[in-house]
Parts: sequence; C-alpha cells; structure tokens
Amino acid sequence: MSTVAVVGAGAAGIVAALKASKKHRVVLLDGNDKCGKKILLTGNGRCNYWNSVLGAHMYETDNIEHLETILSKDNIEACLDYLEKLGIYPKIKNGYYYPYSNHAASIREIFQKKIDNSSIEFKTNFKVKDINNRSGEFLLASDSGKTVKCDKVIIAAGSKAAPKTGSDGSGYMLAKKTGHSINSVLPSLTGLVSLGKFLKEWEKIRCDAKVSLFANGSFVKEDTGEIQLTSTGISGICTFNISGAAAKCIERKEKVMVKINFMPHLENGFYDWFSKRCEILSEYTLEEALESIFNYKLMFVFLKIAGVSKDDIWNRLPENKKQTLCRTIEEFSLDISGTENFERAQVCTGGVPLSEINPYTMESNIEKGLYLAGEVLDVDGRCGGYNLAFAFISGYIAGGCV
Ligand SMILES: Cc1cc2nc3c(=O)[nH]c(=O)nc-3n(C[C@H](O)[C@H](O)[C@H](O)COP(=O)(O)OP(=O)(O)OC[C@H]3O[C@@H](n4cnc5c(N)ncnc54)[C@H](O)[C@@H]3O)c2cc1C
Repeated sequence: MSTVAVVGAGAAGIVAALKASKKHRVVLLDGNDKCGKKILLTGNGRCNYWNSVLGAHMYETDNIEHLETILSKDNIEACLDYLEKLGIYPKIKNGYYYPYSNHAASIREIFQKKIDNSSIEFKTNFKVKDINNRSGEFLLASDSGKTVKCDKVIIAAGSKAAPKTGSDGSGYMLAKKTGHSINSVLPSLTGLVSLGKFLKEWEKIRCDAKVSLFANGSFVKEDTGEIQLTSTGISGICTFNISGAAAKCIERKEKVMVKINFMPHLENGFYDWFSKRCEILSEYTLEEALESIFNYKLMFVFLKIAGVSKDDIWNRLPENKKQTLCRTIEEFSLDISGTENFERAQVCTGGVPLSEINPYTMESNIEKGLYLAGEVLDVDGRCGGYNLAFAFISGYIAGGCV
C-alpha cells in the first residue's frame, strides 16, 4: 500500500483524499485548523456547488481539449453521484445546485465527518512550504519544520483568491518547485475599477445590464445579468464573468473599457422603444417618462452625461440630443483602470497549465507520482457553481487514479 499526501483540504483535496483512501494510506495536509474553509464563503453562504450545464465552454483555460476530457459526461455523472452518496442532497434552481439546507456549512460538516470516519490521517496547521523528490519518494516539509514522506502527492492547494481562507498561492510555488510552469495568475470573478467622475452618484444601485468588454478598441467578451454600480466602478455577476478577461488585457497594458447597455432586452433598441413610449406619454418630462425604468440616481447620471434636463420633453428634443441620451443608456462608456484585488476575487485566472497534466488521471507530465487538482490549475469558470464543480471533478479523478 503506498502513501499518498494531499496538500490542501479544500473542495478538490477533500474529494481526492476520500477517493484515494479506498486504496492507499492517505495523509491530508492543510495550513488551516479545519477543512473546507473557503467552502463556507461560497454562494453567499449557500454554496452553489454544481451546475446542470457543465462543459468546457463555461471556463477559461490554456487547454480546452484537456478540459473537455476532464469534464467528460462520464466524469461529470460519476462525480455528482459520488457527492450525493457522500450525503449532499441538492436543491436545483435554474440549473444551479445548492445543498437543500441552503447552508454551505452543512457541506463542510459532511466532508469533515467523512474524513473523521475514514482512515485518512488529517494533519491540520501543516503548511507545506517545500517539496522534494528523492529517488521516487517525496518529502514534504512544513513551515514549522515537520516533514511527511510519501510515494505520491496530490497538490490541491487552491489559488491566491481570498487568501484569508488559506489559499495564498503557495500551491503555485510547490508546483514550480517540481518543474511546472505557472501561467500568469490574476484575480477573476471580481469587480472592475474605474476612475469615472460620477461613481459616487450611482453608488449602491443594482439593475440588469449587458456589459461588453473592449481592449484597445476591439470587442473581447460580454455578459448579461445583474450589475452593481459602486463607488469604485462596477461589480455583480455579469461584471465578474468578464473580469478575468479584463485582468489579462490590463496586464498586457491594453486600454480597457466597458460599454454598458442598461436596457439590454429591447429587440429594436432603446430609441425605438422610448419613442413609442413617449407617443403615449407625450407631455411627460424625461424624468416622468424614465422614473419607473431607472433608479433616480442612475437616471440623473444619464441626463447629466447626455446634457439634457430632467424637465425636457422627448418629442421636443433636437435629434442629436435624443441620440446622445439613447447612446448614454445603451452604450454607457466606462474606462477601466484595474480589477479588484485577490482579497476580493472569488477565483484566479491562470495557474499550472492544463497542458502539463494528463487529463485522464490528473498526473503531472513533468513529475511522475505528482498529481494536481482544483484551482491551482489554469482553469477558471463563470459564476454558477462551475469552480467548485471543477475542483470536485478534478479531485475525484486525481484521487481515483493516484
Ligand atoms: C467569496 C467566494 C465565493 C465563492 N462562491 C462560489 C460558488 O458559489 N460556487 C463555486 O463554484 N465557486 C465559488 N467560489 C470559488 C470556489 O470556492 C473555489 O474555486 C474552490 O473552493 C477551489 O477549490 P480548491 O480545493 O481548488 O481550493 P481551496 O478551496 O482554496 O482549498 C485549498 C486548500 O489548500 C490549503 N493550502 C493552501 N496552500 C497550502 C500549503 N502550502 N500547505 C497546506 N495547505 C495549503 C488551504 O488552506 C485550503 O484549505 C467562491 C470563492 C469565494 C472566495
């Protein structure tokens, strides 16, 4: 029986350790005093752990073919079945999976009990700071001088996002020590920062919008959903979903901006729709015609930027003013100077390239006996349960193949 050390007791490491413990002696190591600390924060404390439309197209990665192999139908079904057999009963809302309890802590508790009742030796407060391979045997050393010898290692130490949960980027350092390269690691699923002058005026507004990302004038990516307008820029799910791409453009020193469409669902555009609305409300001022559509603070930002008065009447506005107002509402331009930092990011984009991994086993192509799983890899998904799902599936494969 060989000894397998799993570095990191997060979503990926827990599943990997539980699976591996059926065949091997397993030592699970984590710098924290308990497992699954980040899981508690997920889905606003509800843990959105899966999605019914899982597929490689929902992720950013360096190697889409490898990701397709990892996210095969068989792997997806087997891992979901495994989670259910561990005791996680889902509540599925529009394809988003949560525990029926609506309580992330219940998932962590299930994992903790499974670890406690297994043969796994769980060493807490064991922060791995060094890894060496001496003639086929790995030696892991902690920051307090303790060591663990093992035949195989699974690195599941997460990324640099939300470092207070224990994932502070040291997984990348360990992977690098074993010969892996690291694709530039940047914050993702986070807000975008702007230096726009009116930000204080629209602070704390939530509404629906389509946000389109442009770099050096070229379209990059867009997403539709709830946007949050903040004193530093924009946030909310549709912003999160383009933030990793924005971070990459900013790193390349490209000029980044977003265009926001605040009425994204209109078939023929705002001009056509609002003109028809104002045929009925012909004597309404702009304020009266717009006040049930937009938050007052946002409406006044639109009017100010378009250079029209709240007391103006649409049908009497000159054509160029009408066009400017519509453009302001449908193509609101915002220069982006950065993303929020790692502390505020849900995940990282970048990491250990998937092309350096065997996608059928999660074993390293560089270091035999070394496996990698979860967010330490260059895979980051949209909001909606995709990141935990990838962590679980890659951990499931690594733990089963080690
Ligand atoms: C606020 C927030 C909300 C989120 N919401 C969702 C959501 O609803 N749905 C979703 O799918 N995803 C969500 N995510 C993302 C998701 O939590 C992560 O993608 C996922 O937890 C990654 O799992 P992992 O096991 O790879 O890494 P982690 O969960 O980060 O676990 C890594 C573990 O390794 C340990 N570790 C790190 N370095 C070392 C070391 N050197 N030695 C020993 N131990 C080490 C850490 O202490 C940690 O316990 C959210 C993230 C955040 C921050």
